Amino acid sequence: MSTETDKVNLLDFDRAALAAWFEARGEKPFRAQQVLKWIYQQGVDSFDAMTNLGKGLRGDLAAAAEIRAPTVAADQRSSDGSRKWLFQLADGNRIETVYIPEPDRATLCISSQVGCALNCTFCSTARQGFNRNLTSGEIIGQLWMASRLLAQDGTRPVSNVVLMGMGEPLLNFDNVMVAVSLMQDDFACALSKRRVTLSTAGVVPALRRLAEVTDISLALSLHAPDDDLRNRLVPLNQKYPIADVLQACRDYVGGGRRRVTVEYVMLDGINDSDAQARALARVLRKLPSKINLIPFNPFPAAHYRRSSPERIDRFRDILHRAGIVTITRKTRGDDIDAACGQLAGDFRDRTRRRERFAVQVIGGAT
Ligand code: SAH
Repeated sequence: MSTETDKVNLLDFDRAALAAWFEARGEKPFRAQQVLKWIYQQGVDSFDAMTNLGKGLRGDLAAAAEIRAPTVAADQRSSDGSRKWLFQLADGNRIETVYIPEPDRATLCISSQVGCALNCTFCSTARQGFNRNLTSGEIIGQLWMASRLLAQDGTRPVSNVVLMGMGEPLLNFDNVMVAVSLMQDDFACALSKRRVTLSTAGVVPALRRLAEVTDISLALSLHAPDDDLRNRLVPLNQKYPIADVLQACRDYVGGGRRRVTVEYVMLDGINDSDAQARALARVLRKLPSKINLIPFNPFPAAHYRRSSPERIDRFRDILHRAGIVTITRKTRGDDIDAACGQLAGDFRDRTRRRERFAVQVIGGAT
C-alpha cells in the first residue's frame, strides 16, 4: 500500500536532518539548502517547481517524500487586522494559529500541542483537555501555511513568532526545537533569535535544557507573586515553585542584557491588588525582566472577570515606580476569540478533563 502519508514529510526535518537524509540517499548534502529555500522562501510544496534540481532527482523526491502542512479548516479576520486560522492536521485534530499585525512588526502566535495538559484555571485551552504533541512539521507548518496565505493576499509577512498558542512548548521539547531551528535558519525562515519567543509556564528541567541548545527570547507565564496563589492558578507551580522557576529563568538569560518577558494575566480581585503589585516587584528584583500585563480574556464558563482598566493602570504604575518596565498588552482579535487564552481548537480530549469540567459547571449551577 502506498498512500501519501507513507512518505516522509520534509517539514519534519531541520537543515541537519535534511542533509543527513539526502546523504543517506546518496545525494549531496547541499541539496538540503536548495530544498529548504524552495520550501520556506518560495512557499513551494511540489518538487516539480524546484527547477535547480535535475528532473531525475525531482522524480525520486516526489516518490519518497512530500511537503505537507496543516490545511485550513477556517480562516477568520478580526476588525483590527488580526487573523485566526483553524488548521486541520492529518489525523483530524484541529489547532489554532493567530496573526497579529502591529505598526512595527507582524507576529504569528503558534501552537505546540493539541490542547494542553497544564490545566491553568484561567485558560480556555486548558478546559479543552489534551490530545497529543504536535510534530515538528505541524509546528513549522503553521508558519509555512500562514506565510503562504499572507503572501497570496499581499499582507505583511510574519516578522516575529511567539510560541504562545495552544500547549506548553517545553513539554514538547524536541519537536519544538526542530521547528525553532528552521525559523532561525538563513536557508529557511531566517528570523533572528530576538524575533522568536517561547512562552512557558515554567518547566524547570526543560528550561535548563533550553539554555543548552538555543538563545531565543523567553517569556514566563507567572500570574501570581506567591506560591499559594500560583499553585491555584498554574497547578504546575506545585511541582516547580516560583523561586526555582525564577532561578532557571535567571540562568537562562545569564548576566547579559537580555530580559525575560513576564506575563501576568489581570484577574479581578484575585491577583490585582496594590499589595500584590508590590510583592511582584519584590519577587522580580533579581530577574532582568519586563512585565506584560494581559487583561483577562473571558471564555464560556470562565470563573474569572477582567480587572478594570483603572486597576490595571494602578498595578502598572506601582511596578513602574519599582523600576520595572511594564506594558499592558492590547487585547487583539477578541471579536474572533483569538486573544490570549481563548484558543480552543477542535480535538478529542484524552484526559476527560472537558467532561469533568462540564460536570463541574452543571453541578455549580444547581
Ligand atoms: N503554556 C505556555 C504557552 C501558552 S501562552 C505558557 O503558559 O506560557 C498563552 C499565554 O496566554 C500565557 O501567558 C497564558 O497565561 C495567557 N492566558 C491564558 N489564558 C488567558 C486568558 N483567559 N486571558 C488572558 N491571557 C490568558
